[in-house]
Amino acid sequence: MAESTAQPTRTGVSPWPEDAVARYVAAGYWQGRALGDCLAETARTAPDAVCLVDGDVRITYRELLARADAAAARMSAEHGLRADDRVVIQLPNCWEFVVLTVACLRLGAVPVWALPQHRKNEITGVVAHAEAKALVVPDELKGFDHQEMAREVTADVPVCEHVFVVGDDVRPGFTDARELLAEPDGEVAFDAPTPPGDAVVTLLLSGGTTGVPKLIPRTHDDLVYMMGAAAEICRFGPDTVFLAVLPVGHGFVNTGPGILGTLLVGGRVVIAPSPSPQVAFGLIERERVTATSAVPAIVHRWLDHRAADPSADLGSLRLVQVGAARLADSVAARIEPELGCALQQVFGMGEGLLCLTRLDDPPEVVQRSQGRPVSPADEVLIVGEDGEPVPEGEPGILLARGPYTIRGYYRSPELNARAFVGDGWYRTGDIVRRTPDGNLVVTGRDKDVINRGGEKINAEEIEDLAHRVPGVSQAAAVAMPDAELGETVCLYVVRAAGCRVTLDDVRSAMLAAGVAAFKVPQRLVAVDSLPTTNVGKLDKGALRADIQRRLDGERAPARPDAASHAA
Ligand code: AMP
Repeated sequence: MAESTAQPTRTGVSPWPEDAVARYVAAGYWQGRALGDCLAETARTAPDAVCLVDGDVRITYRELLARADAAAARMSAEHGLRADDRVVIQLPNCWEFVVLTVACLRLGAVPVWALPQHRKNEITGVVAHAEAKALVVPDELKGFDHQEMAREVTADVPVCEHVFVVGDDVRPGFTDARELLAEPDGEVAFDAPTPPGDAVVTLLLSGGTTGVPKLIPRTHDDLVYMMGAAAEICRFGPDTVFLAVLPVGHGFVNTGPGILGTLLVGGRVVIAPSPSPQVAFGLIERERVTATSAVPAIVHRWLDHRAADPSADLGSLRLVQVGAARLADSVAARIEPELGCALQQVFGMGEGLLCLTRLDDPPEVVQRSQGRPVSPADEVLIVGEDGEPVPEGEPGILLARGPYTIRGYYRSPELNARAFVGDGWYRTGDIVRRTPDGNLVVTGRDKDVINRGGEKINAEEIEDLAHRVPGVSQAAAVAMPDAELGETVCLYVVRAAGCRVTLDDVRSAMLAAGVAAFKVPQRLVAVDSLPTTNVGKLDKGALRADIQRRLDGERAPARPDAASHAA
């Protein structure tokens, strides 16, 4: 077997300074325990409890551990995978995702979760930057041939030697992931050395990832601590039945406390193949689900469905966490009365900082704020453009630091110079204000990202791609308000002289370039020139105001001057 040329993850990580490490260890936040060991320990305390449900598949903790350890042993013996090797997992919501993730953790390998909607462009970037040795894909999904994509990715990134496929039609040269994850006949004596607490446990994809992705190196110490703290606040325990409705590639559904946080405390995870209200409500009723997490767009659909058809028995549901995008106060107020369970607002980021409203907070806090940090050691600073703290209660840019907020992206010194300021503060790019009771309210954004129903899209990436379309002279992507998703992408273009560029041209060119479909613009507006600020910078604020005006004009009765330039 060829030796991997991948570099060890530790050489790409910005560690916390020694004094911070000492504080976090002394306070007991960091315990030097590997996530895989923690999960195995929980599994051994209640081996017969069902921990994972996906359709008719019901897996106990004993089986989870047996399958994960057997898979770890096979990955090691048959594929030469070792501790610290990166494994990019691109799977839809299915039990295999969970068992594979646990198998990687047991091996000490580093799972890197991608979204099923990602295409060659994104997956190649992630695999290359992580120097992943293995890629896990479904055989085919929604008509897309993931195996063909995997073939192209591995051809471009030779360090990625292994492709594991979940599905019935596994091509020659690839490994059937279900064989890898099969339950072993007898005991598996798999004992990989335990990774140290400061080893990388996962590389998360940062929201708004571009062609060269931002990877977030989380450590065992920080992630185990964060999930434990979140699980405690959410009162998760062995009686928790957590429904995973969001795409499992997201950090929120995995770690907030999510799937892994539920498994850490001995609860049960139910996998929803779709977030549709019919599927989710059916599973809540059938599996007596107690908690779930969603984005505002999903909750909207649930509330609408509930109003039209209140027949599902949601009586077991105690908690709905809503986050990843701003939940409107008016919608927040409907959740408890209409779904019959508590709401928890979640404001978090792959980079770390996780804010939650608490279960005993008064309704006005739960409905009108995005909560407060989960750790007493989390530090937040709200600053103005000049980097100085704003007066208490005023909105400003949020900076964060703490026992689970990274000090740098993976192997990205240039990016880190911009994203981390002063003494290790992460500049979140979110604009927030703090209420007198210490909760944060997200009021805006100071980063060029479009938040489409919780999926972050980097405007610069869209602009780069648009520039490659023949006939586009200049391009600017901005968020366009959307009733369902919150925001979608609107692309302003200046066309080259005599050229005609349509929305379809841009969409087809982007899809042909292997870009995830959720990133393609929803609307194209052709203009003669792009607005600039008085210092000559592109004025995105003016464009956002422009699209808002156009939308308002379209909703209002037609006026003679309301003609849109939209192509
Ligand atoms: P990600 O790393 O993909 O989870 O994206 C993190 C970003 O999502 C944050 O920096 C915010 O911009 C946004 N976000 C997360 N939760 C919320 C929320 N509750 N309200 C508004 N924006 C949010």
